[in-house]
Amino acid sequence: MARRVLILGSTGSIGVQALDVIAGSEELELVGLSAGTSWEKLVEQARAGGLTRVALSDEAAAARAAQAWPDGTVLGGPDGVAELVLESGADIVLNATVGSAGLLGTIAALGDGIDLALANKESLVAGGELVMALAEATGAQILPVDSEHAALHQLISAERAAGPGTVERLTITASGGPFRGFSREQLESVSVAQALKHPTWTMGGKITIDSATLMNKGLELIEAHHLFDVPYSRIDVVVHPQSIIHGAVALCDGAVIAHLGLPDMRVPIAYALHYPERAELPVARLDLIATASLTFEPVDLVAFPALRLAREAAQSGGTAPCILNAANEVAVHAFLAERIAFTRIAEVIEATLDALESQPLSEFEVLFAADREAREVARGLVGAGTI
Ligand code: MG
Repeated sequence: MARRVLILGSTGSIGVQALDVIAGSEELELVGLSAGTSWEKLVEQARAGGLTRVALSDEAAAARAAQAWPDGTVLGGPDGVAELVLESGADIVLNATVGSAGLLGTIAALGDGIDLALANKESLVAGGELVMALAEATGAQILPVDSEHAALHQLISAERAAGPGTVERLTITASGGPFRGFSREQLESVSVAQALKHPTWTMGGKITIDSATLMNKGLELIEAHHLFDVPYSRIDVVVHPQSIIHGAVALCDGAVIAHLGLPDMRVPIAYALHYPERAELPVARLDLIATASLTFEPVDLVAFPALRLAREAAQSGGTAPCILNAANEVAVHAFLAERIAFTRIAEVIEATLDALESQPLSEFEVLFAADREAREVARGLVGAGTI
């Protein structure tokens, strides 16, 4: 019987590629779709997929979709998205929502014991402890869709099967983004258009800016810590401009095992949706001779302070990573709207973290409150001119 898949955030880059993977697989069946505001594209996807129910987290967009699509049922608002998750009969939910708004879908799926293919890394960044505890309590699996974490999942699953305690360190690779090699001074005047030109991956706007600031690697560091239960001091980030090695694991006998592949998100999407099976995928194959060389360099933490901020917030724990993430979302949004300079993104995050005290993370309500408060502080900083 085919595995029933629900996609949250189906109109974004990961969602569209997931639809491609599902269309090409006899093992997967699409049972539901949701989006934020892109109702026209969502209705088009639902019609193409033969669905009769969708959800839009934006109420106004939901109302317009309902009007334009009388044959279908359109659920609206965050509750509508949760209802879709609970009533779709899905075996696995692919959460490709952008930002910490994705937490609600993550909680709905895991709380109901539904396996989660997680492309929304902000869920784990903001509420890692609580999200992992929820999965543990209901027995639902979390399968990472981030390319680095899908790589590490494969390496670690194979290694842990051999016995506990053999994994020493994890390495996450970074392409370095469009501004690799730039100095802090050079970064002060870069434009939105320049920041949106990623050298190896084609992705949505938010993650592309996160890749340009290297905050994406900061978020991935926190994501890896929660997924694999490895302390921060044993997770490294290395710049690898070719994006061929996605992750590596150092073992207790001095061996290092790595995962290689051409950068194509359909590979980690298909891995998560078919796990533990493997599916044949019509993607380009890696040619090592044509690749010729793989190079590595350290991250320049002076030019790219976002990674340092993420590591510090991660080590503080509690609500600090949630505050970091919320401030980043506000700052990235402001940069994309050309309201602040590129280098202000990290400044806004740092000032928000300085302004708010980290609270112990006891329940999701604490998290939602911290998220709201951090957004307010960051919005004030964005509107206030130079710090
Ligand atoms: Mg990634």
